[in-house]
Amino acid sequence: MSKKILVLPGDGIGPEITTEAVKILNACRDAGLDVELEQALVGGAGYDAEGDPLPAATLDKARNADAILLGAVGGPQWDTLEDLSKRPEKGLLGLRKNLNLFANLRPALLYPQLAEASTLKPEVVSGLDIMIVRELTGGIYFGQPRGIEERDGERVGYNTYVYSESEIERIGRVAFEMAQKRGGKLCSVDKANVLEVTILWREVMNRLAPEYPDVELSHMYVDNAAMQLVRAPKQFDVVVTGNMFGDILSDAAAMLTGSIGMLPSASLNEHQQGMYEPCHGSAPDIAGQGLANPLATILSVAMMLRYSLGQAELAARIERAVGQVLDDGLRTADIAYPGTRQVSTREMGDAVLAAFLEA
Ligand code: NAD
Repeated sequence: MSKKILVLPGDGIGPEITTEAVKILNACRDAGLDVELEQALVGGAGYDAEGDPLPAATLDKARNADAILLGAVGGPQWDTLEDLSKRPEKGLLGLRKNLNLFANLRPALLYPQLAEASTLKPEVVSGLDIMIVRELTGGIYFGQPRGIEERDGERVGYNTYVYSESEIERIGRVAFEMAQKRGGKLCSVDKANVLEVTILWREVMNRLAPEYPDVELSHMYVDNAAMQLVRAPKQFDVVVTGNMFGDILSDAAAMLTGSIGMLPSASLNEHQQGMYEPCHGSAPDIAGQGLANPLATILSVAMMLRYSLGQAELAARIERAVGQVLDDGLRTADIAYPGTRQVSTREMGDAVLAAFLEA
């Protein structure tokens, strides 16, 4: 039976970059991949058309899809919406929550051709290959109670940082299994010297460790992890952490690789249903100008093939095509430097497609 893929272009550069990624998906279909593609609205586009950043029809389609390809959501025109539940980001959070996409995999892989594009010295970053496993549906972004209220004559804002043992255990297992398939090292990042919730986090990780004797587990406080990521990032293989720490650390790891425009991500639930999206946002500053780098979205398609569709070979073929195009010296503006050839979003997509078809 054919697999269903839902494409959600979203806002800003979202439509431009997903157009390029869909070209590759169509080429995979021509190569024999049995998939059906559908499109729907999300984020600001959903709000403008339906008054809801996650229209009911979109959620229905998402529930029925085997995998979702998302561009990005958000933009300044929606930042002033007073009803926070109508903001574009709520569409994204709603999808994660409704589909129970608790495991966010964010690789930070430095293509050797881009070592010069990093702000760190090439010797610090060349060969970098980190997988950050971030818990995505719990922690302080979702904890209750939360709010802003009047107390003793002034406004007070508060959130709740909460994790249950079962939530920690299921993300821990994803991370241990990922470490088994990679370099065998897992670093769990917490703030167990200050926060009780992460004392529990550390206890659960330690309890799981004997079940994975081939994985070397270590622990690091989040402030030190931020420092180590820019000091000596190659010490990391797999990193597992909670929602907020993972949000921040994975963006820092992204920049080690030179451009956020290169980094894909996957968010999975227990049934391998997944949402695949670039790590970056909707980049309203460059939207509609052909400047956006589509490679993170194209590499998200590769992750989709690997983690939700069981097509590791096609995934590797896409990754090789991206490598080929970089070898050929083609660069979008964000990764261009003297001696390379700057191309538009569409030209980059077409070049990857051509390399994919030749491979
Ligand atoms: P951003 O990631 O959109 O942009 C940060 C910088 O990186 C900008 O200078 C942008 O031009 C550049 N950039 C991002 N993606 C690029 C690409 N593919 N190619 C070339 N350059 C690229 O982050 P921001 O500016 O903080 O946020 C903009 C909007 O995106 C906001 O509304 C924010 O809420 C939203 N956002 C959405 C997501 C998501 O949909 N997953 C994630 C983060 C931010």
